[in-house]
Amino acid sequence: ATPTSIMVASGKGAELGILFRRGDALQQLRNCRVVALDKTGTLTEGRPVLTDLVLAAGHERSQVLGMAAAAEARSEHPLARAIAEAASEEAVSMPESRGFSAQAGLGVEASVDGKTVLVGSADYMLRSGIGIDGVAGDARRLESRARSPVYVAIDGVIAALLAVDDPIRETTPRAIRALRHLGVKVAMITGDNRVTAEAIAHELGIDDVIAGVMPDGKVDAVRQLRHAHGSLAFVGDGINDAPALAEADIGIAIGTGTDIAIEAADVVLMSGDLNGVATATALSQATLRNIH
Ligand code: ADP
Ligand code: MG
Repeated sequence: ATPTSIMVASGKGAELGILFRRGDALQQLRNCRVVALDKTGTLTEGRPVLTDLVLAAGHERSQVLGMAAAAEARSEHPLARAIAEAASEEAVSMPESRGFSAQAGLGVEASVDGKTVLVGSADYMLRSGIGIDGVAGDARRLESRARSPVYVAIDGVIAALLAVDDPIRETTPRAIRALRHLGVKVAMITGDNRVTAEAIAHELGIDDVIAGVMPDGKVDAVRQLRHAHGSLAFVGDGINDAPALAEADIGIAIGTGTDIAIEAADVVLMSGDLNGVATATALSQATLRNIH
């Protein structure tokens, strides 16, 4: 493509809210064989809401919710916000917490009322030696309805199973259809559990799911998909998407996402509408077709 045709296409993209930060991104998009998407905040709104709270015997709702919120008080994870919002809506009293520590991709731990409280994924509980069999059935039921379970343990024993729902962005279903129509493979990469991830993927018609990925595992996931399918675009919004955005042949950031993701990207979707991925790809194909 000539510099002029690329400028014209970039200008057209800008009008549509698609910012090309790197000139050759437009050219590379034409060869794109697979688009891998982060789930939380990219396919979904990234604002999970607490929908369920299943109590273990001997526990009380307001006490467990208060302790979970206290343990999460210093976390900036979207799940922490969902728990804090529920605790505040139900006006539960929130005890003081001490000794907060977070494990990226797993959960948090803190001391609340002299008790050790852990809030996080099934993996986190298992790694901490906490049995989750007692709530396995409930977890499975919630996961298959596309909800994400969050386990709460007090002094080494499960006290409750929470679940959150993070709605799919209104613009996502059409965006996935458009990508499939362009003939590219569509894949999802997420830190969330496999059953929930597959329920969401199924709803959207995404056939390739890499779930349970630790924050530093997204780069490996990108390499794996590229090895299997060819030139790859990765779309993400979060701090821990930055390495994968840099690793991808084309990194595409959600404009409403974190600055770190935007800085690592070649293309930015200003409004966060994923339809921009297919639009940019079509723009790239049309531009280069006109030249040759
Ligand atoms: P994602 O945003 O794709 O779900 P993360 O790597 O942020 O990926 O988290 C992976 C999983 O780890 C979450 O789905 C959740 O189960 C658990 N987790 C991480 N941080 C927290 C937290 N602060 N509170 C509860 N659970 C957490
Ligand atoms: Mg995200």
